[in-house]
Amino acid sequence: MNPSAPDEIVGYGSEAGIPEAEHVVKAARAAFGKWSLTPFEERACLLERAADILERRRFELSAVEVFEVGKPWNEADADIREAIDFCRFYAQQMRRLGPPKLTQQVPGEESYHHYWPRGVAFVIAPWNFPMAILCGMASAAVVTGNTVIMKPSEQSIICGAMLMQVFEEAGVPPGVLNFLSGRGSVIGVHLVDHKDVDLIAFTGSREVGLRIWQSAGVTRPGQRQLKHVICEMGGKNAMIVDADADLGEAIGYSIYSAFGYQGQKCSALSRLILLEENYDRVMERLIPAAASLRVGNPEEPGIMVGPVIDEAAYRRILDYIEIGKKEATLAYQAKEVPPHGYFIPPTIFTDVKPNMRIAREEIFGPVLSVLKVRDLDEALEVANGTYYALTRGLFSHSPDNIERVKAQLEAGNVYINRSCTGAIVGRHPFGGFKMSGGGTKAGGEDYLLQFLIPRVVTENTSRLGLVPEETPEYRDEFLWPKHQ
Ligand code: NAD
Repeated sequence: MNPSAPDEIVGYGSEAGIPEAEHVVKAARAAFGKWSLTPFEERACLLERAADILERRRFELSAVEVFEVGKPWNEADADIREAIDFCRFYAQQMRRLGPPKLTQQVPGEESYHHYWPRGVAFVIAPWNFPMAILCGMASAAVVTGNTVIMKPSEQSIICGAMLMQVFEEAGVPPGVLNFLSGRGSVIGVHLVDHKDVDLIAFTGSREVGLRIWQSAGVTRPGQRQLKHVICEMGGKNAMIVDADADLGEAIGYSIYSAFGYQGQKCSALSRLILLEENYDRVMERLIPAAASLRVGNPEEPGIMVGPVIDEAAYRRILDYIEIGKKEATLAYQAKEVPPHGYFIPPTIFTDVKPNMRIAREEIFGPVLSVLKVRDLDEALEVANGTYYALTRGLFSHSPDNIERVKAQLEAGNVYINRSCTGAIVGRHPFGGFKMSGGGTKAGGEDYLLQFLIPRVVTENTSRLGLVPEETPEYRDEFLWPKHQ
């Protein structure tokens, strides 16, 4: 459904049940032996072909995102470009990690460190970056030699299906990447618990992530190995505005970070922390800046705030706004939003205290809480005072304060004097810790290691009483798994 016009159908998807999920695990397991032995160069080329196809279909795929998940044009385009970047970046990284490496030069011994894929990977994605996150996790799993079950969110099945088309056109062999759409509560649960799933790559809410983390820790009869879980979850992100911050910069970036894509980015700003010294000056400019946002159907270029994803999200966010009205002061709410579709007016609360629900819980909508603090000490305490640690940042001109905040902010991604959203693959590896995630970094140099098992092979080469003068060239194929 189009969230801007819920009576408009964007596409139809099938809903897999347990039998289809079983079928897919078998297909992925059967394909693993051959795929795991396929040279990494071939696997890297597959990702690069997928990137070229995404590039060719860039505008068409962006358009589907505008309709299916209500992204404004520039955000939809950014999502497709991020998917392209993931494919190219992980292809490069696999070429770096692929060749076995001699651990040390020792006469009479050769020790090689190298990697094997883990097995069958189950990729579970959210709807808010329907192409980039699904593609990022799936391409990382594929390029490392795993076979993959790719489950898009229920709300973004069409985008997910189009990504599958892209990989099919790129020539992914049968069984290597398997598209499975259906309910998380049915097939998701079933496959997380499945004895033949070796790796789970999840991005989504804290509630579901913690359930997966727990469930994957249980060993089922017939299970071959410990399940590895990559778990990226939500945030309650904060920006501090220092007394000497450039207010034009601070306000522009804060408004974009809080209300871009309706506040439905995991990195979105939801707590703006102002030093009391410049509180009034910031508020004087923040409210008119919020009032200048254009809310409406994102099919129209220039709209910055579109609809939220579906009726459940719409109701949940409106409930939070009611909670906010009771807990704090409603300082601003946009007056006009389209009458049909799931449009929530951008909303700002002031007099928010750190222990209030609107300051602690992830709302995932266009709602910003403003907290007033005495000084930078208190600002840091408030910023760090939630169980999330995804994105946080500071606007300041003071070199001392910038250094202090860089060192002390608890967040996987810390941003100084810029927006706290918009991470770029390779340049800003992305992911949080605490209850925001397990500390993995999508788009970072170490990300692919999550999908691999390290292995070392040591040979005593002096058994004939001869010490080889030179270490022979080690051939890649000796070290890929033969066990399947
Ligand atoms: P969600 O947790 O509701 O769903 C995510 C995926 O999990 C979906 O594919 C869903 O079908 C599946 N799922 C649901 N229940 C399941 C279960 N019991 N077992 C297995 N799978 C199950 O999240 P969402 O609403 O799609 O996405 C929004 C959330 O994702 C927000 O909390 C946001 O902060 C977070 N997010 C985090 C990042 C990050 O990088 N840290 C990025 C994007 C989104």
